[in-house]
Amino acid sequence: VASKETLGFKTEVKQLLHLMIHSLYSNKEIFLRELISNASDACDKLRFEALQNDALFEGQSELAVHINFDTDARTLTIEDNGIGMNREDVISHLGTIAKSGTAEFLGKLTGDQKQDSQLIGQFGVGFYSAFIVADKVVVDTRRAGESAEQGIRWESAGEGEFSLETIDKPERGTRITLHLKADEAEFADNYRLRSLIKKYSDHIAVPVFLPPEISADDDADETETSKAPEAVNQAKAMWTRSRSELTDEEYQEFYKHISHDWNEPLTWMHNRVEGKLDYTSLLYIPSKAPFDMWNRDTARGLKLYVQRVFIMDDAEQFLPLYLRFVKGVLDSNDLSLNVSREILQQDKQVDSMRSALVKRILDTLTKLAKNDSDKYQQFWDEFGDVLKEGPAEDFANKEKIAALFRFATSTSGSEAQTVGLADYVARMQEGQKKVYYITAESYAAGMGSPHIEYFRKKGIEVLLLTDRVDEWMVGHLNEFDGKSFQDITKGELDLDELADEDEKKQQETLQESHKNLTERLEKVLPEVKSVRVTSRLTDSPACLVVGQFDMGGHMRRMLEAAGQ
Ligand code: ADP
Ligand code: MG
Repeated sequence: VASKETLGFKTEVKQLLHLMIHSLYSNKEIFLRELISNASDACDKLRFEALQNDALFEGQSELAVHINFDTDARTLTIEDNGIGMNREDVISHLGTIAKSGTAEFLGKLTGDQKQDSQLIGQFGVGFYSAFIVADKVVVDTRRAGESAEQGIRWESAGEGEFSLETIDKPERGTRITLHLKADEAEFADNYRLRSLIKKYSDHIAVPVFLPPEISADDDADETETSKAPEAVNQAKAMWTRSRSELTDEEYQEFYKHISHDWNEPLTWMHNRVEGKLDYTSLLYIPSKAPFDMWNRDTARGLKLYVQRVFIMDDAEQFLPLYLRFVKGVLDSNDLSLNVSREILQQDKQVDSMRSALVKRILDTLTKLAKNDSDKYQQFWDEFGDVLKEGPAEDFANKEKIAALFRFATSTSGSEAQTVGLADYVARMQEGQKKVYYITAESYAAGMGSPHIEYFRKKGIEVLLLTDRVDEWMVGHLNEFDGKSFQDITKGELDLDELADEDEKKQQETLQESHKNLTERLEKVLPEVKSVRVTSRLTDSPACLVVGQFDMGGHMRRMLEAAGQ
């Protein structure tokens, strides 16, 4: 047996551990949910790998999680017979934080307990949450398929370092022993554990066992059989149960298990589809954007199951990029258990499922926007910028996606993005044929632009587009409800239709009487294509207008800033 070796945690783990213990104290019981969630993931992974190699079951294919406690010793163990870990796994999974966005996350922490606990929850707490209640954690583990002597013991007090040693571990899988802090003895208690498992882990598909409860009056005539552990949870894949049987709490807890996000989801969709295709989907819209939302390369997609067997995380083929914030589970009865990412990419059934899921998500958002505008606004504020990638990526659903957009406008009175295009169109003035917009660095800059003066005077609403992606997005949108989009800083504006008779006459007279001036100006300003008398302005004496097909000012400034 190799001797004990001590290794240091990576800096970010040290930082996280310290903050977690202090910030999450008021939520300390969630450690149990995290450890059971990991045990269940480990069982899923084993079942998946065993599809190719049955020997990994080592003759024991009934997967389970066992929880035990010793009140006197103040210990709590969570044991699974899942995939287990080898030495390398242990070092990389229990010694670092492999998640993307870690640095950004740590940079955002402020030291304010309430704010930080929110952020930590959003980032995901995971295994290290054990240290909220334990001052020593021991992990004994052995990877399925390896020999009994290749077990590993990881041990740490959650300070700067952890130790590793090789141990004998005949049973495959992982046993985590928590040495509870003196004031956390409450967790070494049958009743407390039972209610926590019910509350947080009822939806876990593998059975979670506890020793039987011993009531005061039956300790005398206890038989051996009554001492057998009992499964506390339902132990049934949650999405296979019927909607009417499930409570909101169960849906919410399941979301936390699959998403590693601890905020409540905003809403969810649970559907069984039978017929040409046969599958069940349970999809969630989160309430908060994760830290790495902006990275188009990070893990996204659904957790894929085939006939209840876990196949892969992040099956990205089932969702377009612009819906990458959606989390959930897809369980197909049509796909083969041997399905791989490569096969998914070419599969016709996958395309049909994907279209159906997209439709379902867009319909749900449309309904939310209609029935609960506050909740929809919350969604838009978190994910609107991602949804704006939609028209470019998903031409077929362009109109539906556009109807979900929200903007600030010249008449909305604030920079909050609250106006939908349908509302805009409904408010269009008589004679107005286009949806007018201006792109600007900020709401104030847009409102202060000389181009907008005429529209404000006439009470014509103008969309104020201030997000980086807006100009690009509008370019792909082209039109909404048959109305094209018009940048008010570009080309001819067809304002004539909006002008009243007096204005039209005045315009003609002015054009004539200023002919001399405009011609002279064109001579002295050779960079300017033409000089016109305009009704666009009310307060400013002059403004520059770019051609209809030239790049907009906002885009030009962005490219200039990028050195183009
Ligand atoms: P997450 O579950 O989000 O990946 P955790 O901090 O909960 O993050 O766990 C980190 C990693 O440690 C897991 O991804 C997994 O690889 C490994 N791990 C944790 N618990 C177990 C377990 N019981 N069996 C096997 N691997 C585990
Ligand atoms: Mg986890």
